[in-house]
Amino acid sequence: MAVERHVIRPPLNRIWPSNLLAVPDSEFAVSLARDIKRELGKHASPQELAAALGCTVVFKAMTGRFGALLWPSEGNRFSLICDTRAVRDNDDATPQGFRIAHETAHTMFYNRSGDQPYVVVERPYYGIGTPGIEEFCDTFASELTGLQREVFKPKLIDELL
Ligand SMILES: [Zn+2]
Repeated sequence: MAVERHVIRPPLNRIWPSNLLAVPDSEFAVSLARDIKRELGKHASPQELAAALGCTVVFKAMTGRFGALLWPSEGNRFSLICDTRAVRDNDDATPQGFRIAHETAHTMFYNRSGDQPYVVVERPYYGIGTPGIEEFCDTFASELTGLQREVFKPKLIDELL
């Protein structure tokens, strides 16, 4: 049975880009996060934002060193798998919220015109983006959550590169 296709609704559909062919600069990441907070208010929490973008968040103890993973699926949706390890609590203003916000930022680089999103910008390392994409997603997550990315970056990214 076909999965109902996810549609991003207003006002988010007017703000949130998709199918980006190049990595925008960090100023765009900051202004986008501010626009989202202004438009969505309390719904700008990472989990609410992920849901509005068609991401189903799954908490799971992961065996690898990823803090979180984004996995495209049918119905124009994603599974967003967030590692339960090193998660301190369920508040959005935590590393968990940062990870979720970071992964939602990755959805901008997917073409979402068909049934299943597919990545547009080349990802040279298996499972993660270019350093430029990772920096962009970190900047967005930092602005949205108010957390400094330097706190989380070493274990999540640098071990992989
Ligand atoms: Zn990433």
